[in-house]
Amino acid sequence: MAVESLFPRLEPLLPAVQKPIQYVGGELNSTVKDWDSSEVRWALMYPDAYEVGLPNQGVQILYEVLNERDWILAERTYAVWPDMEKVMRANAIPQFTVDAHRPVGAFDILGVSFSTELGYTNLLTALDLAGIPLEARERTDEHPIVLAGGHSAFNPEPIADFLDAAVLGDGEEVVLAISEVIREWKAEGSPGGRDELLFRLAASGGVYVPKFYDVEYLPDGRIKRVAPNRSGVPWRVVKHTLMDLDQWPYPKKPLVPLAETVHERFSVEIFRGCTRGCRFCQAGMITRPVRERSIRTIGDMVQNGIEASGFEEVGLLSLSSADHSEIGEVAKGLADRYDGSNVSLSLPSTRVDAFNVTLANELSRNGRRSGLTFAPEGGSERMRKVINKMVSEEDLIRTVSTAYANGWRQVKLYFMCGLPTESDEDVLAIADLARKVIATGREVSGRKDIRCTVSIGGFVPKPHTPFQWAAQESWENVDARLAKLRAAIREDRAYGKSIGLRYHDGQPSVIEGLLSRGDRRVGRVIRAVWADGGRFDGWSEHFSYDRWVTACADALAEEPVDLDWYTTRERGETEVLPWDHLDAGLDREWLWEDWQDALDEVEVEDCRWTPCFDCGVCPQMGTEIQVGPTGQQLLPIVGVSQTRQQELIAQS
Ligand code: SF4
Repeated sequence: MAVESLFPRLEPLLPAVQKPIQYVGGELNSTVKDWDSSEVRWALMYPDAYEVGLPNQGVQILYEVLNERDWILAERTYAVWPDMEKVMRANAIPQFTVDAHRPVGAFDILGVSFSTELGYTNLLTALDLAGIPLEARERTDEHPIVLAGGHSAFNPEPIADFLDAAVLGDGEEVVLAISEVIREWKAEGSPGGRDELLFRLAASGGVYVPKFYDVEYLPDGRIKRVAPNRSGVPWRVVKHTLMDLDQWPYPKKPLVPLAETVHERFSVEIFRGCTRGCRFCQAGMITRPVRERSIRTIGDMVQNGIEASGFEEVGLLSLSSADHSEIGEVAKGLADRYDGSNVSLSLPSTRVDAFNVTLANELSRNGRRSGLTFAPEGGSERMRKVINKMVSEEDLIRTVSTAYANGWRQVKLYFMCGLPTESDEDVLAIADLARKVIATGREVSGRKDIRCTVSIGGFVPKPHTPFQWAAQESWENVDARLAKLRAAIREDRAYGKSIGLRYHDGQPSVIEGLLSRGDRRVGRVIRAVWADGGRFDGWSEHFSYDRWVTACADALAEEPVDLDWYTTRERGETEVLPWDHLDAGLDREWLWEDWQDALDEVEVEDCRWTPCFDCGVCPQMGTEIQVGPTGQQLLPIVGVSQTRQQELIAQS
């Protein structure tokens, strides 16, 4: 069946909406393929506005991996702003892809990548605009399979009613495996309709299909058990782990945005996973083990990506980039290669140690020394032991001292508020640290214009972390502590004016907490919020706490649970958690022990440099830590003179 572009109908309406360029498509390195000759068609969605969604690495990687196969077609779609939604509804224009402006409802599969749970209401808008029934059980063979991925998919239960399927972990291989299943099923004439297709996906063991699992509850509201209701589907669904990153050097051709976006640079992921063991960090826990890209692949990716896109800024990405075993060689090699060119390099690493400053010095050879960011996360030494962030005050002062001595004028420090066992003193300790940072900066640089910006995020307990059992702090307590901190900084005559304080109020974190650790009953709340106008909940100007509170009260009125039950309640060891049937590889007993260690303020080392401490991931997933050094060198780049190449090799 021919699928027409919606653009001729859309174009005359664009002058009426904000930033119309975001809906136009045609970016450098975007792809439009023939519809009819493609056997499997994916619409890939990032459920936020184009300016946030376009730079998303996960979507860009899958877009390219899928489109490289001649039998697969993949296009992108983003959340449309409320003004555009209005225009689309008034003109009966369905949710469309930006590549060929095809209706999302015509694709075989809609893959949605969730980095944050606050994007859930945007999923409902997109489904509704696409003409896809919100509830999976109401969909027919005419509708795409709606599949979630990304970090939030490690507990997709709050949106289980709206999803046909979810995948956990790295997407590169599994999207191809899913495509194969769809291709085969279609080639057979789509036997058994979407139910059979979903069954085949579920039976593969790597795709979670919520409708094949029943949840039973205890009278007090806790979960009694989650069990498959179809023979042939596994009791537990496991995450996917890509073991050889060098074999998957994506994105090869980064998309170049047409409209302004939050990042305008080419990012190369230098390793995946993190074993530092910060107890609050879901990303670190669920992406284990560490798998490094080799220095040579990194060098090739940087060069090829710059050539393919024209970007002049390159970010070396990962959860803790300074931890790459050959980061010194990578930084020096790239800095040498691009010395004197327009290419600027950055390492958005936040590790607190002086080596990080050395790396930043190296990478900033072509640029300005404006600001450096470090993340102690906890204000007091005690707090940092609880969260397993092994940074002493001495480490921090030594690090900032090196930074200021090397000409950096501004240091940014990241902290969290609302952490388990936190007291007012732990948060007020942030002001003391900031004062010491300024004092050190003035002393080593001999200047008065030293700045320190303190940025504070609200802590949200996340599934598959040791804090998954913790009580979330109430927003009232978080706001009260932050107010005390602000007062302490303002009242400081000697240093207060040199310290900038940035934070958000605590209410959005409570809703993020509800959505992070919620179960299937929370789906009713999300739907009620959406029906009441909830959109773009990750944006403070669109977020309404009252709307969520009202929806919780209404949608959960018949249940023995409420907003507090999901958020500020501590869970017991034996309680069945909504995500217990979803396997991130971490051993539940190890997570519990780590939670107890947190309460006892006991730290755990990084298994990259110490023996394995049995978190369970490697044996359960059949994986291993993969770190260098490889002893390789960056390859000289084509187009550089022979003499310069030899100089580069001699130096590296
Ligand atoms: S199983 Fe051992 S080596 Fe593997 S990530 Fe866990 S602690 Fe590290």
